[in-house]
Amino acid sequence: MFLTGKTALVTGSTSGIGLAYARALAAEGAAVMINGFGDAAEIAAECAALAAASGTDAIHSDADMSDPAAIAAMVRTCHDRLGGPDIVIANAGIQHVAPIEDFPLDKWDQIIAINLSSAFHLMRAAIPLMKAAKWGRIIATASAHSLTASPFKSAYVTAKHGIAGLAKTAALETATFGITVNCISPGYVWTPLVERQIPDTMKARGLTRDQVINDVLLPAQPTRQFVTPEQVAALALFLCRDEAAQVTGANYAMDGGWTAA
Ligand code: NAD
Repeated sequence: MFLTGKTALVTGSTSGIGLAYARALAAEGAAVMINGFGDAAEIAAECAALAAASGTDAIHSDADMSDPAAIAAMVRTCHDRLGGPDIVIANAGIQHVAPIEDFPLDKWDQIIAINLSSAFHLMRAAIPLMKAAKWGRIIATASAHSLTASPFKSAYVTAKHGIAGLAKTAALETATFGITVNCISPGYVWTPLVERQIPDTMKARGLTRDQVINDVLLPAQPTRQFVTPEQVAALALFLCRDEAAQVTGANYAMDGGWTAA
């Protein structure tokens, strides 16, 4: 359990990739603060399971990642109740699929706030604590869409390219403080986020559900397989190791070869 004594804060971790990060970190002994929306009883049960796995505490914050004050308060609460945070994963994200000319203005603002600006607010609150501790790991879940584009995902592609730039900047600013900042860029991971965009993609492209999965999503990945949340979490664990101390400012693709094509 190489993370015993460390605290991790993972945004957007009541589901999908974020939950896989939280479980992997807890399994290595980290105290974890999870964040996100969902059923209160299910979240409480997940915290209990995380605490049992780590042998220490696990708590939940319902902070809305589109609210900068709530993000700062979440980091303070994490520090006060669990210590740290030593590891911060900016992961919360949403998607909306529509052509630019029809893209709802509120969706644009929401995606930029949740998928991009929240990472800035998170870093702004956590970096001083990590600098004081002289150790830190910041990871952002970017996306293959931080490296390449797809039609009808203007806000998402913009936010993900932005987060890749933000992570590189943060890596340079923290390089002499024992802190690393990296992005993980998955291709398609089978999670509720991907499942939810299928109806909109069917509408935007005039396709059936099976056509979206087999003709739009999977052909992007030469392996023709979805990435799993557990594979993404395993890479994050590596980035938390002392052996990864010289890995900073990197953007790791895990996309079945998508961005190699
Ligand atoms: P998901 O929908 O399964 O989980 C999203 C999480 O974010 C949930 O816990 C949800 O409650 C939380 N969330 C949403 N809005 C929030 C808000 N305003 N404040 C706080 N929490 C909020 O999605 P996922 O597929 O696990 O995606 C996680 C991250 O991975 C996102 O940044 C996404 O862009 C990225 N990503 C996903 C894929 C994929 O194929 N699934 C690929 C590349 C990158």
